[in-house]
Amino acid sequence: MNRVDLNTPIEYLKGVGPKRGEALRKELQITNLKELLDYFPFRYVDRTQFATIRSLHDGLDSVQLRGKIRSMSEAGKGRGKRLKALFEDDSGTIDLVWFKGVSWIKSSIQIGQEYVAFGKLSRFKGRFTMAHPELEPFQNQTNHNKLQPVYHSTEKLTNSGLNSKGIEKIISASIQGVKGNFPEIFPGDLLQNVRLMNKEAAYFHIHCATDDNLSKQAIFRLKFEELFFLQLLLIRHKMISSTKMKGHLFFKVGDQFNTFFSEHLPFELTGAQKRVLKEIRRDMGSGAHMNRLLQGDVGSGKTLVALLTMLLGLDNGFQAGIMAPTEILATQHFETIQNFVKDMPIKVGLLTGSTKKKDRTVIHEALKDGSMHILIGTHALLEDVVEFQNLGVVVIDEQHRFGVAQRARLWKKNTVPPHVLVMTATPIPRTLAMTFYGDLDVSVIDELPPGRKPIRTSHKFDKSRLEVFGFMDQQIQKGHQVYVVYPLIEESETLDYKDLTDGYESIVRRFPNYQVSIVHGQMKSEDKDFEMKRFAEGKTQIMVATTVIEVGVNVPNASVMVIESAEKFGLAQLHQLRGRVGRGADQSYCILMSGYKLSQDGRKRLETMVETNDGFQIAEVDLKLRGPGDILGTQQSGILDLKVADLARDGQILQLARNTAMDILKQDPNLRKPQHEGIKRELLELSRNRPNWSRIG
Ligand code: ADP
Ligand code: MG
Repeated sequence: MNRVDLNTPIEYLKGVGPKRGEALRKELQITNLKELLDYFPFRYVDRTQFATIRSLHDGLDSVQLRGKIRSMSEAGKGRGKRLKALFEDDSGTIDLVWFKGVSWIKSSIQIGQEYVAFGKLSRFKGRFTMAHPELEPFQNQTNHNKLQPVYHSTEKLTNSGLNSKGIEKIISASIQGVKGNFPEIFPGDLLQNVRLMNKEAAYFHIHCATDDNLSKQAIFRLKFEELFFLQLLLIRHKMISSTKMKGHLFFKVGDQFNTFFSEHLPFELTGAQKRVLKEIRRDMGSGAHMNRLLQGDVGSGKTLVALLTMLLGLDNGFQAGIMAPTEILATQHFETIQNFVKDMPIKVGLLTGSTKKKDRTVIHEALKDGSMHILIGTHALLEDVVEFQNLGVVVIDEQHRFGVAQRARLWKKNTVPPHVLVMTATPIPRTLAMTFYGDLDVSVIDELPPGRKPIRTSHKFDKSRLEVFGFMDQQIQKGHQVYVVYPLIEESETLDYKDLTDGYESIVRRFPNYQVSIVHGQMKSEDKDFEMKRFAEGKTQIMVATTVIEVGVNVPNASVMVIESAEKFGLAQLHQLRGRVGRGADQSYCILMSGYKLSQDGRKRLETMVETNDGFQIAEVDLKLRGPGDILGTQQSGILDLKVADLARDGQILQLARNTAMDILKQDPNLRKPQHEGIKRELLELSRNRPNWSRIG
């Protein structure tokens, strides 16, 4: 067969033509042969096996049968016309049925000839039936000796004859012609060490799979390649920024840090906090720019690490800042930090959207003349009017709510960009961290402060509410406080609001002797703050709220978290909410309330919460259930657009790809060696074809 150019426009391929070509361009952005071959199947149907009719049972999806057609009959008239064929093998009979193309099908079927029938099973009046099967004479062994690839199609494509089967046809018609078009890009020793199938074979076997093992090798090769280049880009990016980007040198540990440490630190740091601080000090003392991600479960003590990091900045003559995603959280950080340093000569400011204009001006001035040392705030901190005399370090709390672009804006706050410490309480699964924060160094606080008892979590159905009320009562009588949280889904805000107020009223009725606070998104921020404050001071016993309390709120005396309609929450959110209790020395409880009707995923989420307190484990389950796009939020979803790899499932391949990329760049940072020629060429091509990848990190 003639060699076909991979750049051949899609219309010119066998079996395509202008109309389908147009559909492929519009629906799948496939414009040429190369892009068509990069459109991989997402699963296979095993057509190497035949089932016997007797062994059929409910619960099978598609099956392949081998047998003869004994008789045919037509029924109905006009549009209701259908064709029924009695299909038999040695073990029994089933009905094949067609509702379309009846006369044509009838004339092409030969009674008594051996056929392969393949399709979905259903039951009709107790008998197994296969509607619109794929039917082919048996001796013509085209489709029943292989793994049949299944491709995603769309309605428009299907209408122009390109359902999965149609896509399979045009791919298999051109794939033989591309021999010699996929030169290997990896050096031989890499192929051997990682045991990779060569590139051309991989393209062939992923589309034309005859054998499970070969198709698996093909998929592995292509996933590895995709992840390898993603990592290569990220690691190179990081190498370039760490050599080029100078950072402020924090060479000394001075008065502020030492005084705080020896005189004001209310407790001993945990081992993990100490380790992380060492890592941070090493970065900031190196003269390079720090870009570090600090992961630590809720309650692991990140705030203190943030404070000590900022004090190092102050000791070296710089200002410091914390940026938090919500006003409540910023305020809480402000209060915590203010309280920690109240006896030291350190001036701390709070800047949020609701800071009054007059106070704002005062803060702006104090930042400019250097008399304010630490500024805590929301994204108000990013505004251009906020100018520092000498900003040296910024802590960003709850990174996943801030975009990459916002991080970049911070860099402009000083001629040499400030060191950045990104803190997140939502543990990010390793695979995602490696990808999305591939340019950050990662520190982990994997230890909770001593004396914490693991929170006990249970799942209760709505009918047990009285029992749950009883339990709340017991806990309050012991002097504790209770949260009751309601979901807030924006589309049905009014409905949720009603749930919340109904809940509030029934709680007030049930607990006439207790004070009950309520906080929700529609309240004015002063009112919210007032209620939160009353609860934090122990003046109210029960806090009924929506998820506004999700992030960061710290009331150690609260021991019970009741989550209403818990099935409506995502895992990360449930874990965050649960983290609001278990902050003191006493046993804490989390009660997940739900109705009986639960989706499969909803049930899995609740089970996971009951099973474990480990944020990383929860994050892994979350990734599997939701996929990476959702977890990172709208800003980052879709940037990656991976063709074959799946971050939720291919963690091991990702790790392997990352290590391999790292090794290569260590030996040959600019990919100048002849054996890396292929990799270099592919990298250039990628930066043209996937411009989005460079936006990561
Ligand atoms: P998070 O990591 O969720 O931000 P916080 O910084 O709010 O956690 O800390 C949770 C609680 O633990 C706070 O009350 C804090 O004062 C306390 N804490 C932090 N570090 C320690 C420690 N080493 N020993 C005891 N308590 C600590
Ligand atoms: Mg926190």
